[in-house]
Amino acid sequence: MRRISLSNGQVVEVDCLSCALTSGLIQPDGGVVYETDYFHAHQDVAYPIRGLIILASKRHIKSFDELNEKEKIDYITILSRIRQAQRDVLGIEYVYYFYNEDTTHHFHTWMVPRYDWMYDFGRSVESLRPVLLHARNEMNDDENVKEVMEAIHALTRELHRG
Ligand SMILES: [Zn+2]
Repeated sequence: MRRISLSNGQVVEVDCLSCALTSGLIQPDGGVVYETDYFHAHQDVAYPIRGLIILASKRHIKSFDELNEKEKIDYITILSRIRQAQRDVLGIEYVYYFYNEDTTHHFHTWMVPRYDWMYDFGRSVESLRPVLLHARNEMNDDENVKEVMEAIHALTRELHRG
């Protein structure tokens, strides 16, 4: 079990944060952006980057080769739909994708939109961690968080359209 402090001050004990999120035990700030039979999309607002999405499997697996056939198809379909929504609604030109199998949680893919300020931290994978830390530590002001929340709602609306 691990103890997780939620942004509302509540502390919960869970075996796996991804299981807690995808099962609905924990509600992510900003809500569930999209959900299918096999996947769950939300933003981790601890990293207030406009349009950032985390796409987690509902099944507690760690590795890509554990996905079954239905999950494989669902994954690429929802991943590309979210990507298109980021482009159409938020004007996001580039996204970085990050996924590691040695996670303490379970299968989840980070979709990190690329903004101009991020190039100060490098041009590729080496910039990802500094970018996330910069967002968490320096961009938590009301105005930015408000923009992040509006982006979550815009993506949620777009993905539930028809
Ligand atoms: Zn899990």
